[in-house]
Amino acid sequence: MQVGLTRTRAIVLHSYRYSETSKILKLMTAEMGPCTAMAKGALRPRSRFGSVLEPFTEGEALLFVKEGREMHTLSSFEPNVTRLGLARGSRSFVVAAALCELVMRRAPEQRDEHLFDALGRGLEALRGAEERDELKSPAAGLEHVWSVLSVLGFGPDLRVCGSCGGSFRAGEGVRLDLASGRASCPTCCSGRTNLSPAAFSELTRLLSGLPARTPAADGTHDEPKSGQHERLLAAFARRHLPEGERLNSLEFLTSLN
Ligand SMILES: [Zn+2]
Repeated sequence: MQVGLTRTRAIVLHSYRYSETSKILKLMTAEMGPCTAMAKGALRPRSRFGSVLEPFTEGEALLFVKEGREMHTLSSFEPNVTRLGLARGSRSFVVAAALCELVMRRAPEQRDEHLFDALGRGLEALRGAEERDELKSPAAGLEHVWSVLSVLGFGPDLRVCGSCGGSFRAGEGVRLDLASGRASCPTCCSGRTNLSPAAFSELTRLLSGLPARTPAADGTHDEPKSGQHERLLAAFARRHLPEGERLNSLEFLTSLN
């Protein structure tokens, strides 16, 4: 059995108590992909890990890796950013939790730096977003979840109609097929659209990584209905998880609206 120390950038996705004194961590690492690690003694009062082994923390992990084993041992963890402040704002916290949950459930069992970076970027953008008043719009913060979904290979393709290859016309809705991620123009779906023109333009915006639109102060715009994008995202994610599985944080987000 190959045994060795590996240093890697890592983000804590989830942590839970294992015994009186130890914790088990689910990590997304830049160099090894997702992994599980035991932090022995992490719950002791004067633990060398301090209190940083909480979700959203990013840093340098030194792992004692045993090849062929599913669980490694955390030797040390130097945090670069803890993001503990995310716990303060409810929406930023829930969206950040959705990012971590998605990576935990769907990350391929291999090195994937694009996914690591997308997760880190999303968490970093959400840190302090509440204080900066950036999460007031309906659909706020969801661009980060769509970004992670896209890196995982599940992002919908809204560039052209998936049936006739034609361009979408402004002011028309589309039909989005959740399973395939393909959108069809009203002609191809016999007018049975499920995304209004406003919802379609907002989704296009979120998928390109732009923040959600702020509602017009006079309420004259055709705004996507509150909660619509959360429900769409949750339904989309459900179709890309194993049968019967849900992302609890996303489902919770839909219940807030
Ligand atoms: Zn078409």
